[in-house]
Amino acid sequence: MEKETEQNKMDKIISLAKRRGFVYPSSEIYGGFAGVYDFGPMGVELENNIKSHWWKWMVQRRSDIVGLDSSIFMTPRIWEASGHTTGFSDPMAECKECNTRIRVDKALEEIGITADEKMSEEDINKLFEDNKDKIKCPKCGKQNFSKAKKFNLLVKSNLGDFTENNNAPAYLRGETCQGIYVNFLNVVDSMHMKLPFGIAQIGKAFRNEISPRQFLFRAREFEQMEMQYFTRPEDEMVEYKKLKEYRWKAILDLGIKEENLRWKQHENLVFYAKDAWDIEYRYPWGFDEWEGIHARGNYDLTQHSKGCGKEQNYYDQEKNEKFIPHIIESSVGVGRSVFAVLCDAYTEEEVGGETRVVLKLDKKIAPIKVAILPLSKKEELTKPTMELFNSLKNSFVCQYDETQSIGKRYRRQDEIGTPYCITFDFDSLNDASVTVRDRDTMKQERIKISEVENYLKEKLK
Ligand code: ATP
Repeated sequence: MEKETEQNKMDKIISLAKRRGFVYPSSEIYGGFAGVYDFGPMGVELENNIKSHWWKWMVQRRSDIVGLDSSIFMTPRIWEASGHTTGFSDPMAECKECNTRIRVDKALEEIGITADEKMSEEDINKLFEDNKDKIKCPKCGKQNFSKAKKFNLLVKSNLGDFTENNNAPAYLRGETCQGIYVNFLNVVDSMHMKLPFGIAQIGKAFRNEISPRQFLFRAREFEQMEMQYFTRPEDEMVEYKKLKEYRWKAILDLGIKEENLRWKQHENLVFYAKDAWDIEYRYPWGFDEWEGIHARGNYDLTQHSKGCGKEQNYYDQEKNEKFIPHIIESSVGVGRSVFAVLCDAYTEEEVGGETRVVLKLDKKIAPIKVAILPLSKKEELTKPTMELFNSLKNSFVCQYDETQSIGKRYRRQDEIGTPYCITFDFDSLNDASVTVRDRDTMKQERIKISEVENYLKEKLK
């Protein structure tokens, strides 16, 4: 996409997200707070639907995966053992003219140079130096940067630390999976899980991202949906292939267009990893990571065995064997998913010489399933319409709306992706029927009020 169109599409999605109550910038009335977002009334419904879709796929439909909700705060020793206190960093450089900080690997990628955060400071500085005439400061446009330095992304807090200088910080978790690893033995013991099996959780993560941007794609506070699958060493790659296929299907089941998805294999693997792939989505600026699926060997449980001094072994009763399981993981951000889903659903159509904006969200994840609208605000219509709302509200997520003209209300429901609008008009008083309007085709059907519930059940099945 051309740069201008790219920005245009981003602006349209961000503006719709705000205008229609999906996503607001954090602390807006105080001028904002970079990298943090609030989900509005429509956003929280969409987010919840995406999370419950994931939970259904990753926990409820699987007899071999169980759920967990571990705490955000954990002893700092966990982050030391996992390598985060020393190695969880991105290369940062500062513009000497205006002090804007950039993430050097991303700046290099933007000009077509393969780089990533795992490269050594020396290697990334060499690439940075060789290409410095092509990288401009995103704020002032100058080309006068400091050297790239690794910047640790862990966010510190003073929880439980009453010293003046905060020299024993507790970290806000940088990823949710460490809470899974440290509960591995608890889950085995309490749930009698047999390998291979998985533990899944959804929760907040925090990263001091150097340049949070691209809307929900890169935030400093975000939610992750992670599933860690524990296997015998020899089964790791077989299970890895299965997990990749399963996650691809799950993402398609969100209603995503397959041509907007692709696989990308990591070129630079961390030393312990067996293989690593991302599912990429075609965002307005091009393909970029949506979800990571990684084969991690036995690194994580080995590190925690060393860290806490207790072997994190699995005991295979049948074979009378003890060993540290290998792990494959799938990890995806909720905000990134909301953003990808919004990009995929955003549609503009020419209707009667006007542009109709419609979010063609999959019905499963649409925030509101049915809008229930009296044609006008007259009490003879609003009263029975409200009765209809009350009779349907336990079966579907409904919204009653009597504000503005019916045309404006349809437009609003299109923009939040509501699959069906039901209008109660003056004829309804006589024929006990209502008009049901389909979001995608805009076709309207007259349905008996007594049949509406079954009609919608069938359509929303
Ligand atoms: P990136 O290379 O984009 O920084 P990453 O490879 O560091 O991402 P992981 O640590 O593998 O990401 O995190 C797993 C998933 O969590 C990502 O695929 C993404 O969906 C989500 N995620 C990671 N960082 C962020 C962030 N800052 N904001 C929103 N979502 C994120």
